Amino acid sequence: MPTDEEIQDCWDRSLRAFGTAHIFERRSRGAKRRIRVLSFVGMAVPVLVGGLVASLLGMPALQPYLGVLIAIGGVLATVQLVFSIWSLLAKWEDTTSYGSESSIDNLEISDIFKGLAQKPPADFAINYEVAKERDRARSTQDLKIGVTDNEKRMGMRAALRQFQKKCVACGEVPRDMKPTTCPVCGNFGFRMTRKKVKEISPGGGLKTYE
Ligand SMILES: [Zn+2]
Repeated sequence: MPTDEEIQDCWDRSLRAFGTAHIFERRSRGAKRRIRVLSFVGMAVPVLVGGLVASLLGMPALQPYLGVLIAIGGVLATVQLVFSIWSLLAKWEDTTSYGSESSIDNLEISDIFKGLAQKPPADFAINYEVAKERDRARSTQDLKIGVTDNEKRMGMRAALRQFQKKCVACGEVPRDMKPTTCPVCGNFGFRMTRKKVKEISPGGGLKTYE
């Protein structure tokens, strides 16, 4: 039979894996959206400029604006090119594929630990060890990619909301994903000043998720 500590550990791991899944799923979704916008602009701008130029050629009164139009098209094309280079350097494609892979794996890990905690099987010890090994392997990979403190707090909020658990810092069970001022399950809105964060949490207060 599992000890109380082992059951608690299963809950903790399940919660953490769920939070990590949320982080990587969000990253993957964000990168996917950026790639889509970039491809759209890449295709739409030449078509738009080409179409407008063709229309203007048939209207002599508007022909003086041709140069301006082509120049605007050129600027947009350059901006698009710069973003394309950025997307390559920032590896948006990798972010989407790694993000969805990690998110799926973390969700499975979360479910396994939840199952172990809710209904410990007769061969708990073996299952627990196997699950811990899988969790370790996943965490090592995720750690290499890196997660920001903002993301950790956001993942924590998502997990607490899912598990209907109280936050250790603010004592609340999150009902939505709106960032609050809590240094553990909030403050991921990217708009808070450093001064305000210090006021709320002089020590940083991020230890619980690490
Ligand atoms: Zn909190």
